[in-house]
Amino acid sequence: VARALLAASIARPAWQVGPYRIEGPDEDPFTLAVAAIDPLEEDLRRGLGKTGGAIHLVGSFPTEADWAIGEALDLPDEEIRRYPAGPGGWWSAIAAAVDEPDSERWDVVVAADVAGPGVIAPVPPSAAPLFGAAGVAVLAGPGSGLAMLGHAARGHPPHRDTGVRALLTAWLDRTGLTAETAEIVVAGGEGAERLKRSWGTTGSAIRLEAPRPETLRQLGPAPTVASALLLWDLVGRLREGGLGAVVEIGRDRSTFAAVRWDAPVRWIGPWIAPSEGVPTERERLVPATARLDAVSQGAYVPHARYVENLPSRWRLVAERCGRCGRISFPARGRCRACGETERLAREALPRTGARVEAVTTVSAGAQPTEFDPQVDAQGSYDVAIVEVAPGVRVTAQVADARPGRVRIGDRVHLALRRLYAMEGEWRYGLKALPSDAATTAGPGVSGRPAPSSEGRSTARRPTTRRSSSPARSGSRRARPRTTRAGALRT
Ligand SMILES: [Zn+2]
Repeated sequence: VARALLAASIARPAWQVGPYRIEGPDEDPFTLAVAAIDPLEEDLRRGLGKTGGAIHLVGSFPTEADWAIGEALDLPDEEIRRYPAGPGGWWSAIAAAVDEPDSERWDVVVAADVAGPGVIAPVPPSAAPLFGAAGVAVLAGPGSGLAMLGHAARGHPPHRDTGVRALLTAWLDRTGLTAETAEIVVAGGEGAERLKRSWGTTGSAIRLEAPRPETLRQLGPAPTVASALLLWDLVGRLREGGLGAVVEIGRDRSTFAAVRWDAPVRWIGPWIAPSEGVPTERERLVPATARLDAVSQGAYVPHARYVENLPSRWRLVAERCGRCGRISFPARGRCRACGETERLAREALPRTGARVEAVTTVSAGAQPTEFDPQVDAQGSYDVAIVEVAPGVRVTAQVADARPGRVRIGDRVHLALRRLYAMEGEWRYGLKALPSDAATTAGPGVSGRPAPSSEGRSTARRPTTRRSSSPARSGSRRARPRTTRAGALRT
């Protein structure tokens, strides 16, 4: 059975600093990875969930990602493999996922880049690199799609990539790439220019092309996700059956990867550089809350209790009663309506299209103490009660929107985000994100549109809408008075 890359999904944060997308204050590699995998969930359940496989993590994931990824996907038994950030790690993971000798297996490769500070070693915001943020997930399994012909890497002295041309020539011969069919995308700034100039003197019929300008716009030199975007760029140039390669010239290491396009691959999300995100100041997005050592002294949730409730906390797992048909949420092993304890079927409630039933602003000083660092850095926030299924309500903090933007009747979707640090690790939970991208706005800005990370079309640019016309912001609906968050707790 042939194996191939079958589908790929990208998630980009709503926030923008300068030219780059950047993770929000409650996003990190883990949440970006989960956001990228989410649209592939059905495929995963059909494939990985049945035949087993591996989850390949590329990038600087926190240690708890080893169990948390499987938990977030409800695939707790899958093998986890890790790879370093960068093109080398990315292509190694892709090759491993496709090359699996047990060909019925399904594998998913997940990469995430954040702009920092690093999750593992916090650094001051001023010292953190700024290179853009995104999560990418690629599904590999039995079937026809994008076949991997091979990949290779070559180390060289810094900025002295003279051996790369010879290696590339030999390697293209070996892979069987020909002038008739091959498209070769070469990236890597100065090194790429050098290679293209020297390539012109070889008389080779194969052309080296630069990535299309829109490919890497607003992502910047993201170390890992850039490789995924180059692959997407390459496939956009191929005809069915066509061969192509991505060449990335790095500072002291260059990589090559060749593919054959046998059947369409689903590219989910804003692979085309999205329109501008929500502009904001970087200092507002990487505040003290991004420090794991800022451990809350407040409401203590024991680790065991936190982990026990994860299916409900992270995936909205409820129980449908086989006797009376009612849904109990969160799942507690007993029907709330009739007390049935035997005939209960676990069922994950939908995380999209939830309706806001109530919303309140928690102002500084009124927050539960575990949210002190967040409030210190960003000020007040909104908490919403949303209906996810008839009669089933969930309380969630509102994210990616400034206080007051989300109103009763709005549709939101629930996404996994950081809540707070406790016992030396991050605790995560679902937050409500405006489903209409136009309601998204950052702190201190007035509602520039941001593209949705849920777009399923690759054929067109994400729709953007003007959101905050003066008329609309002027007629803001009355909202409930600010109260303690405790009043909303269920
Ligand atoms: Zn019942």
